[in-house]
Amino acid sequence: MTRHQISEKNITVIGGGPSGMMAAISAAKQGAKVIRVIEKNPALGRKLLATGNGRCNLTNINCSDASETLQFFNSIGLLTRVEDEGRVYPYSGQAAAVQEILVNSLRDLQVKVYCGMEVEYIDRIGASFLIKIKDHKPIETDVLILASGGKAGPQYGSTGDGYRWVKALGHTVVSPRPSLVRLVSNLAFFKELKGVRAKGCAKLMRMNQVVEQETGEIQFTEDGLSGICIFNLSKHYAKGDMVQIDLMPDFSDEILEELLLSRVQDLENRSIKELLSGMINKKLVSVVLKEIALEQESRAGKLRRKEIQRIISILKRWQISIIGTKGWKEAQVTSGGVKLSEVDLLTMESKIVPNLYLAGELLDVDEKCGGYNLQWAWSSGMIAGKSAAAAISEK
Ligand SMILES: Cc1cc2nc3c(=O)[nH]c(=O)nc-3n(C[C@H](O)[C@H](O)[C@H](O)COP(=O)(O)OP(=O)(O)OC[C@H]3O[C@@H](n4cnc5c(N)ncnc54)[C@H](O)[C@@H]3O)c2cc1C
Repeated sequence: MTRHQISEKNITVIGGGPSGMMAAISAAKQGAKVIRVIEKNPALGRKLLATGNGRCNLTNINCSDASETLQFFNSIGLLTRVEDEGRVYPYSGQAAAVQEILVNSLRDLQVKVYCGMEVEYIDRIGASFLIKIKDHKPIETDVLILASGGKAGPQYGSTGDGYRWVKALGHTVVSPRPSLVRLVSNLAFFKELKGVRAKGCAKLMRMNQVVEQETGEIQFTEDGLSGICIFNLSKHYAKGDMVQIDLMPDFSDEILEELLLSRVQDLENRSIKELLSGMINKKLVSVVLKEIALEQESRAGKLRRKEIQRIISILKRWQISIIGTKGWKEAQVTSGGVKLSEVDLLTMESKIVPNLYLAGELLDVDEKCGGYNLQWAWSSGMIAGKSAAAAISEK
């Protein structure tokens, strides 16, 4: 790493989440001397503690930047392990380990951390910035890194404040909406299906066309669908979309027909309900049979070919109407944010406001589940921190 001679000009990072902590550490490692982090929560990285169900899926080895992230975490003392689908977790299985190690690094690098301080607005004075903080004196900074997140998970501190500041500074914000979130349906049968989990394929359908599809565990809740594959579909959801579920993705229509016909022959005295039990979840059996208006208790042997086709159709292409997504409190990330074309992605500096850098979820970037969103926070934070330090350096 080339170290420049660094002036006493200062860098202020607003937001002490993953992207903000990474930005401050990178700026300090690059040699910047006066760095502050301002965080409104009483402690840094509150959302980080909740990630990956408390285990923090910090990156994915399938990301192009994953090796740099892993090298960084290794250098600050974190041991990691790779799990299914390339998901990387701290070896200890604790998100707290990631948060602590970042906080310790900030301390070692003498970054000044101010928690419990809520930024209200930002003014431009000449080439620098004046930061107005609730119940505190304003502070001035030469270089500003905004890492205040989006609107997802407001209970962890990210309430979309940054959108107001960047708009006032001249940026465009792509309308934010909740992503990686449950899909809601008003179909009455969901009450009966609460808690059911089925391995299958879910397709997001718009005007009979597949928008996106995901295979994995589909979870049924009292008011809709959940599970990682549904979260990934929610990223693409638009009003009017439906979800089509294939409950038997390992069987083609033809093989399923053969299977059902042979079961009808072998189990002709059983009820239709009993015929399907043992193939799919019992609670799903009664719901799907009601959906295609077949009497559950009728004798399987009485099933005609047309009725078997109806069973195949619902097992393979069950259409579920969706009325929307759950809200910000349940969402894991924000879709939308600061327009990417207004930011130089090689430095993360604003193309509109010199000396302003942006990182993390505040920007219009949202990825699927699996460690990809934190990876964006680390990568963008690292670039913003390094570039901000370089900007105040005297070569
Ligand atoms: C429950 C949950 C689980 C998740 N699990 C994963 C996972 O396992 N893997 C993954 O890759 N991603 C996961 N994510 C997404 C991931 O947490 C985010 O992508 C990431 O935290 C974004 O980092 P950030 O630093 O940009 O923003 P944030 O983490 O939102 O941090 C922004 C910080 O800015 C502070 N702030 C905001 N406004 C102000 C203000 N006015 N003044 C001062 N400070 C302010 C906030 O308090 C906050 O600390 C999960 C998200 C949630 C909600």
